[in-house]
Amino acid sequence: MDKVYLTWWQVDRAIFALAEELRKNFMPDVIVGVARGGLIPAVRLSHILGDVEVKVIDVKFYKDINERMEKPVITIPLHGSLEGKKVVIVDDVSDTGKTLEVVIDEVRKAGASEVKVACLSMKPWTKVVPDFYVFRTDKWIVFPWEEFPVVVRE
Ligand code: 5GP
Repeated sequence: MDKVYLTWWQVDRAIFALAEELRKNFMPDVIVGVARGGLIPAVRLSHILGDVEVKVIDVKFYKDINERMEKPVITIPLHGSLEGKKVVIVDDVSDTGKTLEVVIDEVRKAGASEVKVACLSMKPWTKVVPDFYVFRTDKWIVFPWEEFPVVVRE
């Protein structure tokens, strides 16, 4: 599968674009970051939006690039209630969309009054199109936090 490599600068610009959209259209009470890929964007968004509370959920689905388990499994559940809260779920990318399906369900069960999804990117085939996203690609995305300082590419 072809890969696309993103820089910190590109990711930061994308996060600012998401923040702008959220500020205009859906200012959240709580950000739910999906570990691991959604955590850096979630924390950055929280600061840009002015100290919005961040909660974490961890869902395991991928074993390797494009190699998935049977279904996503929650390894760290959401902590506490989201009763009556406006919640934005933040992840790096919606690929099959199965992870987000599980997370949306959990956030609703925790009592959120409104739920939206914000991702840096989405794949054209996803079944969960984020309410807010910055770009589409059919390639495997390599985010800057996944890279080592020195990388030898074939
Ligand atoms: P999904 O459940 O939508 O198939 O995938 C969800 C998770 O798998 C994403 O949050 C991300 O962590 C990982 N993932 C899926 N596609 C990609 C990709 O192209 N690049 C990276 N780095 N992770 C991906």
